[in-house]
Amino acid sequence: MIRRGLLIILSSPSGAGKSTLAKRLMAWDDSLRFSVSATTRPPRAGEVDGREYYFRSHDEFAAMVAAGEMLEHAEVFGNFYGSPKGPVVAAMEAGRDTLFDIDWQGGQQVRNSSLGKDVISIFILPPSITELDRRLRSRGQDSDAVIDDRMRKSRDEISHWAEYDYVLVNEDLDATEASLRSIIEGERLRRDRQPGLNEFVRGLNAEFDRNRG
Ligand code: GDP
Ligand code: ADP
Repeated sequence: MIRRGLLIILSSPSGAGKSTLAKRLMAWDDSLRFSVSATTRPPRAGEVDGREYYFRSHDEFAAMVAAGEMLEHAEVFGNFYGSPKGPVVAAMEAGRDTLFDIDWQGGQQVRNSSLGKDVISIFILPPSITELDRRLRSRGQDSDAVIDDRMRKSRDEISHWAEYDYVLVNEDLDATEASLRSIIEGERLRRDRQPGLNEFVRGLNAEFDRNRG
Protein backbone atom coordinates (compact mmCIF):
# COMPACT_ATOMS: atom_id res chain seq x y z
CA MET A 1 0.00 0.00 0.00
CA ILE A 2 1.47 3.42 -0.87
CA ARG A 3 0.52 6.72 0.69
CA ARG A 4 -1.06 9.37 -1.48
CA GLY A 5 1.40 12.09 -2.47
CA LEU A 6 1.19 15.47 -0.76
CA LEU A 7 0.53 18.79 -2.47
CA ILE A 8 3.08 21.21 -1.02
CA ILE A 9 2.24 24.83 -1.76
CA LEU A 10 4.87 27.58 -1.54
CA SER A 11 3.66 31.17 -1.77
CA SER A 12 5.38 34.48 -1.11
CA PRO A 13 5.67 37.95 -2.50
CA SER A 14 7.76 37.98 -5.67
CA GLY A 15 11.47 37.91 -4.81
CA ALA A 16 11.22 36.34 -1.33
CA GLY A 17 12.92 33.17 -2.59
CA LYS A 18 10.27 30.56 -3.54
CA SER A 19 11.84 29.48 -6.84
CA THR A 20 15.30 29.21 -5.28
CA LEU A 21 13.95 27.16 -2.39
CA ALA A 22 11.86 24.95 -4.69
CA LYS A 23 14.97 24.16 -6.77
CA ARG A 24 16.92 23.28 -3.62
CA LEU A 25 14.16 20.96 -2.42
CA MET A 26 14.06 19.21 -5.78
CA ALA A 27 17.82 18.65 -5.56
CA TRP A 28 17.43 17.31 -1.99
CA ASP A 29 14.71 14.76 -2.80
CA ASP A 30 14.40 13.55 -6.35
CA SER A 31 11.07 11.90 -5.60
CA LEU A 32 9.55 15.41 -5.34
CA ARG A 33 7.79 16.61 -8.46
CA PHE A 34 7.61 20.30 -9.37
CA SER A 35 4.25 21.38 -10.73
CA VAL A 36 5.16 23.18 -13.95
CA SER A 37 2.53 25.88 -14.43
CA ALA A 38 1.21 27.23 -17.69
CA THR A 39 1.52 31.00 -18.09
CA THR A 40 0.88 33.75 -20.60
CA ARG A 41 3.92 35.67 -19.28
CA PRO A 42 6.83 35.82 -21.74
CA PRO A 43 9.88 33.69 -20.84
CA ARG A 44 12.79 35.31 -18.99
CA ALA A 45 16.34 34.78 -20.22
CA GLY A 46 17.33 31.21 -19.40
CA GLU A 47 13.79 29.92 -18.85
CA VAL A 48 12.92 26.83 -20.87
CA ASP A 49 9.42 25.89 -22.06
CA GLY A 50 8.27 22.85 -20.06
CA ARG A 51 10.88 23.34 -17.30
CA GLU A 52 10.08 26.60 -15.45
CA TYR A 53 6.71 27.09 -17.19
CA TYR A 54 4.66 26.06 -20.18
CA PHE A 55 4.67 29.37 -22.06
CA ARG A 56 1.31 29.68 -23.80
CA SER A 57 -0.68 32.29 -25.72
CA HIS A 58 -3.86 33.73 -24.20
CA ASP A 59 -5.97 31.56 -26.51
CA GLU A 60 -4.08 28.39 -25.66
CA PHE A 61 -4.36 29.17 -21.96
CA ALA A 62 -8.10 29.87 -22.21
CA ALA A 63 -8.58 26.58 -24.06
CA MET A 64 -6.85 24.65 -21.24
CA VAL A 65 -9.12 26.30 -18.66
CA ALA A 66 -12.24 25.64 -20.77
CA ALA A 67 -11.26 21.97 -21.13
CA GLY A 68 -11.10 21.65 -17.32
CA GLU A 69 -7.38 20.89 -17.44
CA MET A 70 -6.42 23.30 -14.64
CA LEU A 71 -6.44 22.42 -10.95
CA GLU A 72 -6.42 26.19 -10.31
CA HIS A 73 -5.67 29.33 -12.25
CA ALA A 74 -5.41 33.05 -11.57
CA GLU A 75 -4.37 36.37 -12.98
CA VAL A 76 -1.14 37.60 -11.35
CA PHE A 77 0.70 40.81 -12.32
CA GLY A 78 -1.42 41.09 -15.49
CA ASN A 79 -0.65 37.58 -16.78
CA PHE A 80 -2.50 34.28 -16.40
CA TYR A 81 -0.99 31.36 -14.52
CA GLY A 82 -2.42 27.92 -13.85
CA SER A 83 -1.48 24.46 -12.59
CA PRO A 84 -2.29 21.56 -14.95
CA LYS A 85 -4.28 18.95 -13.00
CA GLY A 86 -3.45 15.67 -14.77
CA PRO A 87 0.21 15.35 -13.70
CA VAL A 88 -0.69 16.26 -10.10
CA VAL A 89 -3.29 13.51 -9.82
CA ALA A 90 -0.92 10.99 -11.43
CA ALA A 91 1.87 11.90 -8.98
CA MET A 92 -0.45 11.68 -5.97
CA GLU A 93 -1.61 8.24 -6.99
CA ALA A 94 2.00 7.14 -7.48
CA GLY A 95 2.80 8.35 -3.94
CA ARG A 96 4.94 11.28 -5.09
CA ASP A 97 4.73 14.67 -3.45
CA THR A 98 4.21 17.70 -5.69
CA LEU A 99 5.69 21.14 -5.04
CA PHE A 100 3.72 24.21 -6.20
CA ASP A 101 5.11 27.74 -6.58
CA ILE A 102 1.77 29.58 -6.82
CA ASP A 103 0.20 32.75 -5.45
CA TRP A 104 -2.39 33.08 -2.66
CA GLN A 105 -5.31 32.81 -5.10
CA GLY A 106 -4.01 29.48 -6.38
CA GLY A 107 -3.31 28.38 -2.80
CA GLN A 108 -6.94 29.02 -1.84
CA GLN A 109 -8.27 27.17 -4.87
CA VAL A 110 -6.11 24.07 -4.32
CA ARG A 111 -6.93 24.03 -0.59
CA ASN A 112 -10.66 24.22 -1.40
CA SER A 113 -10.48 21.61 -4.18
CA SER A 114 -11.31 17.92 -3.84
CA LEU A 115 -7.58 17.31 -3.26
CA GLY A 116 -7.52 19.76 -0.31
CA LYS A 117 -6.95 17.27 2.48
CA ASP A 118 -3.54 16.36 1.09
CA VAL A 119 -2.38 20.00 0.93
CA ILE A 120 0.34 21.50 3.10
CA SER A 121 0.77 25.22 2.58
CA ILE A 122 3.85 27.25 3.41
CA PHE A 123 4.19 31.02 3.21
CA ILE A 124 7.65 32.55 2.78
CA LEU A 125 8.20 36.07 4.15
CA PRO A 126 11.20 38.27 3.34
CA PRO A 127 13.25 39.50 6.32
CA SER A 128 12.38 43.10 5.33
CA ILE A 129 10.84 45.06 2.48
CA THR A 130 14.21 46.67 1.74
CA GLU A 131 15.73 43.20 1.33
CA LEU A 132 12.79 42.08 -0.85
CA ASP A 133 13.44 45.03 -3.17
CA ARG A 134 17.18 44.24 -3.19
CA ARG A 135 16.56 40.58 -4.08
CA LEU A 136 14.19 41.44 -6.93
CA ARG A 137 16.74 43.86 -8.39
CA SER A 138 19.73 41.57 -7.82
CA ARG A 139 17.96 38.77 -9.70
CA GLY A 140 18.53 41.02 -12.72
CA GLN A 141 15.64 39.49 -14.67
CA ASP A 142 12.96 42.17 -14.75
CA SER A 143 12.74 45.80 -15.87
CA ASP A 144 12.41 48.55 -13.25
CA ALA A 145 8.73 48.95 -14.16
CA VAL A 146 8.03 45.24 -13.62
CA ILE A 147 9.94 45.29 -10.31
CA ASP A 148 8.06 48.37 -9.10
CA ASP A 149 4.76 46.67 -9.93
CA ARG A 150 5.77 43.51 -8.04
CA MET A 151 6.90 45.57 -5.04
CA ARG A 152 3.56 47.42 -5.01
CA LYS A 153 1.68 44.11 -5.03
CA SER A 154 3.86 42.45 -2.41
CA ARG A 155 1.82 43.97 0.41
CA ASP A 156 -1.31 42.37 -0.98
CA GLU A 157 0.36 38.93 -1.25
CA ILE A 158 1.79 39.25 2.27
CA SER A 159 -1.68 40.05 3.63
CA HIS A 160 -2.60 36.37 3.05
CA TRP A 161 0.13 34.93 5.29
CA ALA A 162 -2.28 33.73 7.98
CA GLU A 163 -4.12 31.41 5.56
CA TYR A 164 -1.06 29.12 5.45
CA ASP A 165 -0.19 26.14 7.67
CA TYR A 166 3.45 27.20 8.05
CA VAL A 167 5.17 30.58 7.80
CA LEU A 168 8.93 30.96 7.36
CA VAL A 169 11.03 34.12 7.27
CA ASN A 170 13.63 33.51 4.55
CA GLU A 171 16.61 35.30 6.02
CA ASP A 172 19.33 32.66 5.64
CA LEU A 173 18.79 30.38 2.65
CA ASP A 174 20.34 27.28 4.26
CA ALA A 175 18.26 27.71 7.41
CA THR A 176 15.04 28.17 5.45
CA GLU A 177 15.78 25.12 3.34
CA ALA A 178 16.39 23.10 6.52
CA SER A 179 13.04 24.25 7.92
CA LEU A 180 11.27 23.25 4.72
CA ARG A 181 12.84 19.81 4.85
CA SER A 182 11.70 19.40 8.46
CA ILE A 183 8.16 20.36 7.56
CA ILE A 184 8.04 17.87 4.69
CA GLU A 185 9.62 15.08 6.72
CA GLY A 186 7.24 15.73 9.62
CA GLU A 187 4.14 15.82 7.42
CA ARG A 188 5.13 12.53 5.79
CA LEU A 189 5.22 10.92 9.25
CA ARG A 190 1.67 11.90 10.24
CA ARG A 191 -0.30 8.84 11.29
CA ASP A 192 -2.88 9.22 8.55
CA ARG A 193 -0.13 9.44 5.92
CA GLN A 194 1.38 6.07 6.83
CA PRO A 195 -1.02 3.60 5.25
CA GLY A 196 0.99 0.52 6.30
CA LEU A 197 0.70 1.24 10.05
CA ASN A 198 -2.43 -0.82 10.82
CA GLU A 199 -0.88 -3.85 9.27
CA PHE A 200 2.45 -3.24 10.98
CA VAL A 201 0.83 -2.98 14.43
CA ARG A 202 -1.23 -6.11 13.72
CA GLY A 203 2.10 -7.84 13.13
CA LEU A 204 3.45 -6.55 16.48
CA ASN A 205 0.32 -7.85 18.22
CA ALA A 206 0.64 -11.23 16.58
CA GLU A 207 4.24 -11.37 17.78
CA PHE A 208 3.07 -10.54 21.32
CA ASP A 209 0.56 -13.36 21.16
CA ARG A 210 3.14 -15.83 19.91
CA ASN A 211 5.89 -14.90 22.35
CA ARG A 212 3.98 -13.97 25.46
CA GLY A 213 0.47 -15.32 25.06
P1 GDP B 1 8.47 35.56 -9.73
O1 GDP B 1 7.66 34.93 -8.65
O2 GDP B 1 8.84 36.95 -9.45
O3 GDP B 1 9.65 34.70 -10.11
O4 GDP B 1 7.57 35.71 -11.05
P2 GDP B 1 6.71 34.68 -11.88
O5 GDP B 1 6.21 35.42 -13.07
O6 GDP B 1 7.46 33.42 -12.14
O7 GDP B 1 5.49 34.36 -10.92
C1 GDP B 1 4.62 35.40 -10.54
C2 GDP B 1 3.66 34.92 -9.51
O8 GDP B 1 2.77 33.95 -10.07
C3 GDP B 1 4.30 34.22 -8.29
O9 GDP B 1 3.60 34.67 -7.12
C4 GDP B 1 4.02 32.77 -8.53
O10 GDP B 1 3.94 32.05 -7.32
C5 GDP B 1 2.68 32.84 -9.21
N1 GDP B 1 2.38 31.64 -10.00
C6 GDP B 1 3.21 30.90 -10.76
N2 GDP B 1 2.56 29.85 -11.30
C7 GDP B 1 1.28 29.91 -10.84
C8 GDP B 1 0.13 29.09 -11.03
O11 GDP B 1 0.12 28.08 -11.72
N3 GDP B 1 -1.00 29.49 -10.41
C9 GDP B 1 -1.06 30.61 -9.64
N4 GDP B 1 -2.22 30.88 -9.04
N5 GDP B 1 0.00 31.39 -9.43
C10 GDP B 1 1.16 31.05 -10.03
P1 ADP C 1 10.71 34.20 -5.99
O1 ADP C 1 10.66 32.88 -6.71
O2 ADP C 1 10.00 34.14 -4.66
O3 ADP C 1 10.25 35.35 -6.84
P2 ADP C 1 13.63 33.92 -6.19
O4 ADP C 1 13.83 32.51 -5.70
O5 ADP C 1 13.73 34.16 -7.65
O6 ADP C 1 12.23 34.50 -5.61
O7 ADP C 1 14.66 34.82 -5.38
C1 ADP C 1 14.86 36.21 -5.71
C2 ADP C 1 16.37 36.53 -5.59
O8 ADP C 1 16.76 36.50 -4.20
C3 ADP C 1 17.25 35.53 -6.32
O9 ADP C 1 18.31 36.24 -6.91
C4 ADP C 1 17.76 34.62 -5.19
O10 ADP C 1 19.02 34.09 -5.49
C5 ADP C 1 17.82 35.57 -4.00
N1 ADP C 1 17.57 34.92 -2.69
C6 ADP C 1 16.62 34.00 -2.38
N2 ADP C 1 16.68 33.68 -1.06
C7 ADP C 1 17.69 34.41 -0.52
C8 ADP C 1 18.27 34.52 0.80
N3 ADP C 1 17.79 33.82 1.85
N4 ADP C 1 19.28 35.37 0.97
C9 ADP C 1 19.76 36.11 -0.06
N5 ADP C 1 19.28 36.05 -1.34
C10 ADP C 1 18.25 35.22 -1.57
